[in-house]
This record gives sequence, structure tokens and C-alpha cells, in this order.
Amino acid sequence: MDLHTPITQIDRVGKAMAAKLKILGIATAGDLLFHLPFRYDDFSQSLPISQLTAGSRVNIVGEIEMINNKRSFRRRLVITEALVSDPSGVVRAVWFNQPFLIRNLKVGDRISLAGKVEEEYGQPVMVSPVYEKSSSQALHTQGLVPNYSLTANLTQKQLRWLISQVISLAKTLTDWLPADILTNYKLMDLRRAIYAVHFPKSLVEAEAARQRLAFDELLRLQLRAQISRRRLKKMSACPVVFQAAATKQFVAGLPFTLTADQRRAAWTILKDIDRSEPMTRLLEGDVGSGKTVVALIAIYNTALNNLQSALLAPTEVLASQHFLSLSRLSAKTKLTIALLTANKCQLSGAEKIKRPELMRQIAAGEVDLVIGTHALIQEKVVFKNLALAVVDEQHRFGVGQRQALLKKNQPAPHLLSMTATPIPRSLALALYDDLSLSIIKEQPSGRIPIITKIFAEEERSQAYEFMRQEITKGRQAFVICPLIDESDKLGAKSATAEYERLARDIFPEFKLGLLHGKLKSVDKEKVFQAFTRGQTDILVATAVVEVGIDVPNATVMMIESAERFGLAQLHQYRGRVGRGEYQSYCLLSAAIADKAKDRLAMMLKFNNGFDLAKADLKFRGPGEVYGTLQKGFSELKVASLFDFVLMSQAKEAAQHLLTASPNLHDFPLIKEKLGEADKNVHFE
Ligand code: ADP
Ligand code: MG
Repeated sequence: MDLHTPITQIDRVGKAMAAKLKILGIATAGDLLFHLPFRYDDFSQSLPISQLTAGSRVNIVGEIEMINNKRSFRRRLVITEALVSDPSGVVRAVWFNQPFLIRNLKVGDRISLAGKVEEEYGQPVMVSPVYEKSSSQALHTQGLVPNYSLTANLTQKQLRWLISQVISLAKTLTDWLPADILTNYKLMDLRRAIYAVHFPKSLVEAEAARQRLAFDELLRLQLRAQISRRRLKKMSACPVVFQAAATKQFVAGLPFTLTADQRRAAWTILKDIDRSEPMTRLLEGDVGSGKTVVALIAIYNTALNNLQSALLAPTEVLASQHFLSLSRLSAKTKLTIALLTANKCQLSGAEKIKRPELMRQIAAGEVDLVIGTHALIQEKVVFKNLALAVVDEQHRFGVGQRQALLKKNQPAPHLLSMTATPIPRSLALALYDDLSLSIIKEQPSGRIPIITKIFAEEERSQAYEFMRQEITKGRQAFVICPLIDESDKLGAKSATAEYERLARDIFPEFKLGLLHGKLKSVDKEKVFQAFTRGQTDILVATAVVEVGIDVPNATVMMIESAERFGLAQLHQYRGRVGRGEYQSYCLLSAAIADKAKDRLAMMLKFNNGFDLAKADLKFRGPGEVYGTLQKGFSELKVASLFDFVLMSQAKEAAQHLLTASPNLHDFPLIKEKLGEADKNVHFE
């Protein structure tokens, strides 16, 4: 077996499992090695049974004295109960709804158990511990146990076992980093890092391994950014001449006054695009800070120059919304706006338009702005003269997509990226060497601060009553649920079940909508439109509403099992309300005894994405390689937004490499690695 061996040749991997692994991007033994854990369970404390105390997380090894299934009367549950002994004592262990366990675990078996110790009638008991039959090497219950991101029906145990089968191949890896970089920055050798990230001896070793792999990731990012900047410097763009009088008139005609930050950002952008070097600027502003209108001002100027713009959104829902709101904001102008997604094709002011006709108009330069999803880059949409490309929620797109956009036109279009990801200036510059940065700090005036509350299960009916009052006043509400369907083993509420329950038992008098990722995009669109138009009162949804949705009439954001989300993510959800003239509320449901409560309390304390992202990191559990804060931040998988030192080291190393060998000819391994990670990067 070597790194390229297909996983199907590994013992016990059949077609079905191979298909599941493929969803995770794993096809070979080598891919398994690079499927990194996101967290470790710390079972390094191994105790004699007599020393177990409630509240600790431990490992025990003992012999099964008794094991059987029984039914609980009250709840329809099968409880498997076992007594496990070692020379020091006996402890009870229970599992729920796993009746098959007794086929696997028999009296007399030696087993190793790991998990939290709880107390019942003054006696310690292990509730749903991880178990494995004691053999020479425990994989799941002792030491630091890695946890991997999974797909449907794969288990942690299967993945751990698979990785343990191939881990010896780590020795055969070739390190792509030159030795002097390893010594300079005191980085762990790749072979050891891969071994240690899966099976660390200590958290210190796990962190050192993570640092090495994070450095790799940041170095790749830096190299791409620096190569792209060098290339950009050689390109030319079409200057968009600033039309001062018309712009002033347009801004005066908006339904609101721009904030000083918006004004400043718009001004900088207008100056930037009035040049023959292509602009690449990142516009960063917290949720609701009003980035879209800033982009619109630049788009408007572009149209006044008889040049075209494109606006890219990460989802179809968001693209449609931009189409509606930008059409409304520019109603008084002659701006022609088109919406072009996989399923939709629309032109502002027109009743209906066929796709080929719209494509023709775009190619003829009759459309000023085309709004779409990334299909816009891939599809064969031809512009007459694309001079400005705006990418909304840019963290959802990769560097490769940015590059592809630049190639859409000759001369290259100016590029404006927008994000609500709270990255401080110094960090953004370290991360995106090829971007200039504008930040909108202040929120539009007149916004009423959102009131955030955490409620426990026993306060649930009050929370619903409150929601009922708001809806009766004419407002609307969101209910966010963590997972999509009933396969949800953690017991979190699924959106579908929650939707049915709310519609039937709680709010039969209201109209409800259901939005989740498994819906077809046409259906998503319908549900979303109905909510935007006020035809539904409550929108029950999963993570799909996270980015960008703007419904000013919505005043209640209820989030189920809030403890399961990162703070930065909760902040994004919260930003979906408080966008209009009404007092808005964010209601977080969380189990009262939960440790996570302290973390959630940060939501009451902070109202800004960056503080919350920092708090997220602070509350990250020990052994957690990366927190939930980076969900959706596609460029960083191992590195954290707060790896300041590593970032500047990676930047320095990238400069050093490119100075020594501008096209990386002298570093073939690095070049190959870059090519693998991003097929879109080309070297001159
Ligand atoms: P984001 O920065 O999150 O993308 P949007 O651009 O969607 O925010 O703006 C949020 C809402 O605030 C929109 O309804 C927009 O029309 C409105 N808005 C933008 N700028 C201002 C302003 N200066 N004053 C009042 N409302 C504004
Ligand atoms: Mg937005």
C-alpha cells in the first residue's frame, strides 16, 4: 500500500463506504492522512473505578459483570445497562436506544470505556460512554481521541479505524517545505505533523502539529495572493470616470442618508476605479452596515460610462434579493439590471425575457448590471465591456473564482469584494496581500439595538407568546434549527419536524414557511419570496438564511439549540433582524444547566462581530483544533483567523520563495502543491 492506493483496496472498505468517503473528498490512502480532526476528546485520564467522581471525563478499563436491555415506561426508550468492574470496584454504565449492544458486548469481556461520569442516587454512573473491547491498542477510549468531520452514516469509529490503518504511510510523505523554512520558523516536519495531528501524545504536540499544517495552508494562500498581485500589476483596466454631479444627485435621491463610513468607502472606490490599473478592494462591514448601496454607487458610475458591471452572490436567494433591492434603489435612474442564475432569468422593467435574448442583450452591452451566482463565471455569459465585478460575501468564494472573474474581460474588470467576516485590518492585509481594504465601522443611524435573551425550556411558552404578540402587531419572525432531518442523532430539532410542530400545535393561526438546504432552489426561492412579501409570518429555516437576507419587517429571531452554533454565526443570524424601524429581538434557546451558557452570554454582552469571534476562540474547548467561528470561511481550514504570528511568517516565507524563484521553478514540490490546491493558478 502507498499514498495513492485507492481506499477500496483497504480491508473492510466496500463500495458503500467508498461512496461515503468520496463525499468527504477521500479517494486514496493519502487523502485519509490529510483528513484532519477538528477536535480531540481528552480521555488521557485513566482511573481505577473506585476513584470516579461525577463531572469528570475519564477512561476506565474493566470486565463486564452483567449486561442487559430494559424498557423505560415513561419514555419509549430501550436502556442498555451494564456493570463493569476492575480490582478497585464496580460502576454502572448505561446507553440509550442501542439494543444491539448486547450482541456485541458479553459478560466476561474486557472493555475500555470513556466519557463523562455522572451521578445517580449518590453513585457514579457512565452515561452513553464510548466503548471498545480491550485489545493491544485503544483507538476510541484512551488518550487524546481525534474527532473528524463526517458525512451521513459514517461514524467517528470507522474513520479513526481507517486512519489507523494508513497512518504508517505518513513516513513515506515528502515534505514540500524546504529545510531552511522548517528550521527558521521552528516547524514540525510534515511526516511527524501528520502522525501527531491524528494521534497526539499531548495537547502540546497536537498544537505543534496543527501549527505546522496551518503554516502550509497560510503559505499557499500567501503565495497565491502574491503571485496574483504580481500578475495584476501587469494588467490594465478600463478607467471608470467619476461623474461627480450625477453621483451626487443619485445619492441625494436615496431613501436614506449615507453614513460617513459609507461615503468614505464609496469615494475611495470611485477614485480607485477611475484608473487604468485594475482595483482589487475588499469592503468589510458588519452585518447590516450597508455595503450593498456602496457597491451600487460604483455600479451606477460604471453605467454612466457606458460600461457594464456584474454582481456575484453566493446563493440564488441572495441574488434574487439583490435584484429586487437594487432595482428599487435605482428606480429613478436608467440603470438596466438583469438577474441570471441557473433557474432564473429576469430583466428590470421587463415582463418576461428568454435566456438567449437576455444573453444577447448582455453581449450587446444593453444591460448595465448582471446579478447572478457563481454560475455567472462558469457559464458562457459574454459581456460587451465588463468594467466592474462585485463579489458579495467574498469569503464564500475562493481565490480561484476571483481570478476567473478577472479573465472575464479584456482589459480586466475592477474587482470589489464584500464581506461581513470580521477580520481586523492588519490581518486582512496579511491574508490577502493582493487586496486593498475599506472598512465600514458604524451602523446606519436610527437603528434600534436588538434585545437578546436566552430562554430555558420552561420559558418556551412565554417565548412563543411573545412571538405571537409581535406577529399580531404585523411583524414577522425567523426560527432557526440546527439540522435538516430526523437522522439528527444529537437530538437537535430538525427544521422539518419543528415546522410541522409549530404549524400544528403552537401557531395554527399563522402562516409558516420552511426553508432548508435540501429544497430545490426554485422552491427555496418561492418560500423566501413569500416571506419577503409578508405572505408568511414565520420562516422556519436551517443555516440557509445565514448570509445577507434582508427583511426589515422581521423583528424576532429565535434560534433553537443555540449552544450548537458559533458566536460569530449567531451574530450573523441576529443581524437578520433589527434592519427596519422596529425594535427587534433575538431569542436564544439553550438548556439551562449547559456549560455553553457562559459562552452564549457573550451574545448579550457584545454586539459586534469581531468581539464575538474573539470570544468564540476564548471559549473554544481544550483540544478543539478550530472553532465553529470559521464555518463558511472557506480559505482557512486549519489555520485560525487569530494565528497572527503564523500569518506574518507565512507572508515572509512566501516573499522569500518568490524572490528566490519568481515562477517557483526551483521549488517544484511547492509548485505542485499549489497546482493541486487551485487548478486556476497559472504561472507566467
Ligand atoms: P450588508 O452590509 O449587511 O450587506 P445591506 O447592504 O443589506 O447590509 O443593508 C442593510 C439595510 O440597510 C438595507 O435595507 C439598506 O437599504 C439599508 N441601509 C443601507 N445604508 C443605509 C443608511 N445609510 N441609512 C439607513 N439605512 C441604510
Ligand atoms: Mg449584504
